[in-house]
Amino acid sequence: MKSNFLRILFNTNNNSLLLNRKNVLSLNSRQFVREIVQRLLTFKEIFDASLKKNEKSVNVDPLVVFANNELKLAEIDVYGFDYDYTLAIYKEALQVLIYRLGKEKLVDKLKYPRGIKDLPYKPGFAIRGLHYDMQKGILMKLDSFHQIQLTSVYRGLTHLTEEEVIDAYKGSHISQELIRGSSRQGPRMRQLNDLFSVPETCLLSSVNEYFIRNKIPHHPEILSHDVQGAVRRIHPTMHAMLEQANNIGEYLEKHEPLAIFLQGLQNAGKKMFLITNSPFKFVDCGMTYMLGPCWRNYFDIVIVEAKKPLFFANQSWPFRIYDEKANCTLWEEVKSLEKGRVYIEGNLNDLQRMTKWYGKNVLYVGDQIYSDLADLTLHHGWRTGAIIYELSHEINILNQSDYKKAVAWLKSFQSTSQELFSQDSEYIRKTYEDVRAWTKAQFNKQFGSIFRTHDNPTYFSRRLFRYSDIYTSEITNLSKYQLNHTFYPKRFALPHEK
Ligand SMILES: [Mg+2]
Repeated sequence: MKSNFLRILFNTNNNSLLLNRKNVLSLNSRQFVREIVQRLLTFKEIFDASLKKNEKSVNVDPLVVFANNELKLAEIDVYGFDYDYTLAIYKEALQVLIYRLGKEKLVDKLKYPRGIKDLPYKPGFAIRGLHYDMQKGILMKLDSFHQIQLTSVYRGLTHLTEEEVIDAYKGSHISQELIRGSSRQGPRMRQLNDLFSVPETCLLSSVNEYFIRNKIPHHPEILSHDVQGAVRRIHPTMHAMLEQANNIGEYLEKHEPLAIFLQGLQNAGKKMFLITNSPFKFVDCGMTYMLGPCWRNYFDIVIVEAKKPLFFANQSWPFRIYDEKANCTLWEEVKSLEKGRVYIEGNLNDLQRMTKWYGKNVLYVGDQIYSDLADLTLHHGWRTGAIIYELSHEINILNQSDYKKAVAWLKSFQSTSQELFSQDSEYIRKTYEDVRAWTKAQFNKQFGSIFRTHDNPTYFSRRLFRYSDIYTSEITNLSKYQLNHTFYPKRFALPHEK
């Protein structure tokens, strides 16, 4: 960082930071030297003071629970949980399995070219929260202003240059209509929102690349539809593989602190429930592995195959009782929800009516910000928590000293430049971009952090902050807090506040 800074200070090329050509022409040589020295000293003084301030950052604990909104745990009487990637933490082996089974479905069922079976999984290619343009077959990361991060755009596995992206979109902005659709047309962009979608994105990109390289005519939307359908159809096979008792530990973390966390809530008299889209046998197998065969004693209500987000939106779909011995559903009408039974489908309206679990006394925790949290926040007033597993990895990077130095340098440079200069030079811009690119690549070479695009929050993190009251990397991080703890959001200075 230091050598870059000195190179900037002593660079006096055309249109430089220190003096632009117009100023140089208007000064004699003595004035020129005096002016340079004065500006050097002023810049260095302000930059050094700023750097000193910015370098004073403390490490962040990766196991902290962060607040977007004030949340008083003393008011929470009922805790609800999603299962996959909320209570259950999967190993990377599951992503590899999803990728392999998805390839096999494409080839065996949809008759895609056999060469697709040889495409290797690329761990770390994709991250959560990306958008896929179904018309153009382009994968990209958007920020909260719908701006494309120009260095994070791929067609297949091939990086697109900034010029190619700007040419494709006539700029770098994606309209709301393309993202959400309109009354006339559905959305053109598909967002990949959870950790299950990471291997799916890798498969989509690898198959897209294969088609392009082999000059096979294809339509990106059909490709996206087929890959999505293939991955959806592997679930019964995947569930069966994980249900084999000797196999589950290959894919699922034991997650020892989970039992202590749930026991703590139960001892405090809190009610607990589970709402998951997964089938009972699959959940039972994983929960038994993590918590033992009596895991259901922790939960007052267990709801499987819930069809979220429809569970929260459709107010009329009935609950049914699951008969685990016969592995079927019963026709009997559900008039109350009882501990010890397992329910299938249902809806939030009936759940609230039968339990009287309303509003701010219920905290529901899930990993999927749209299907788990959005409806609850926007329409029902339950408090919400998001589990973002990648958070601890990202915090560990934020804590690295090289990363901290680079960010301090960027912040100091931004504030000093803003104070002293009205124009950049190409050389300075390049150095600045190099440092920014380095910080981005620390998280993921292709797409950077899931939470930010340089200075702005990502599209994903803006929704995370809107739909969750708290967020953390693992559910058991809540154990660190007393049950009467109040989470306060950080008071950020607004741009016009000092
Ligand atoms: Mg989940």
